[in-house]
Amino acid sequence: MVNLTEQHDELMLMLSLRASILEMLPGVQVALVCLVSDPDRKGWMLDEATALPKPTFPIADWLMAEVSGLTAETPTRQLERDGFGYLVSSLGIQDKRRKAILMLQPEWCSSDLRIAQGMLKIYANFTRLLFDSERDTLTGLYNRKKLDQKLSELLAGRMRSSNREHDKDTADYLAVFDIDHFKRINDNFGHLIGDEVLLIFAGLIRHALRDVDWVFRYGGEEFVALIKGVSPATIAFILERVRGKVQDHAFPQIGRLTVSTGYTAIIDQQLPAYVFEEADIALYYAKEHGRNQVCDYRDLISRGELAGEKPPSGTVELFD
Ligand code: GH3
Ligand code: MG
Ligand code: MG
Repeated sequence: MVNLTEQHDELMLMLSLRASILEMLPGVQVALVCLVSDPDRKGWMLDEATALPKPTFPIADWLMAEVSGLTAETPTRQLERDGFGYLVSSLGIQDKRRKAILMLQPEWCSSDLRIAQGMLKIYANFTRLLFDSERDTLTGLYNRKKLDQKLSELLAGRMRSSNREHDKDTADYLAVFDIDHFKRINDNFGHLIGDEVLLIFAGLIRHALRDVDWVFRYGGEEFVALIKGVSPATIAFILERVRGKVQDHAFPQIGRLTVSTGYTAIIDQQLPAYVFEEADIALYYAKEHGRNQVCDYRDLISRGELAGEKPPSGTVELFD
């Protein structure tokens, strides 16, 4: 139980839940699973890429179907099959992902059930706290605090592996998106419509990027993405696609709007603030040179475009 309260990361919480249940209910077999939807086969499959321990019993097709059928309304199912009692409970439902815990034993007595359900409730409370502390309330995207944490982790990881050869063809990137002339939307249509635009805009970015990319609301009408392991041509293509999707979207009431984007490769910067600053300088350049465009900090440097530019101020101290 103490173990459960000390964890702050979703994976750690899942592992703690499993360990606590195994400890409190020694006769129960427990498996954590993560399913991803497989568009080719129009079904669900076990996501092998997670750091979850391998299940110690086979996850039959009917069990996969039970997990994929869990909903926010019925997050837990109790069923009997082949002489075993199963408890199948959701640990997270996303668009293309289902996380669940499976528990089984020959027979469930009421006190075992109560204990299992109590542990699940504690888990749910903790994940809610975790979710709230790292998300933006309007858009549900990760917040600035989480960005700082992820960037720090990324830079620390790079330093640890600095002796090893990095992949020369790909890099991790940080991009800053800022809606063009957003103030006019508030001024002309009011804050409520402004908020709705932010919500739709957040969804556009989220869906234009991959599941593995991280998207944050940095503040106001500024958003950040962390896009890992892509080539210079790919990052340019991805961000250009985001720009195009925003430009082509018909926003209710207000019609069209555009976004300016600055980005930089995360290479050898010493602090998260320096990474952000570079992307922000590129964003500033995009704003100063016509908006509705994507600018790469390193490309601007190599072309000598930043000589004489006034860098943005007031951002660096945010990462103290
Ligand atoms: P630029 O093209 O140079 O980015 O112009 P802009 O008008 O978008 O930039 P500016 O930074 O001057 O204005 C941003 C506006 O965003 C100002 C503020 O009223 C608005 N804003 C910030 N946060 C929120 C929010 O949560 N909801 C709404 N509706 N508006 C917000
Ligand atoms: Mg702004
Ligand atoms: Mg703006």
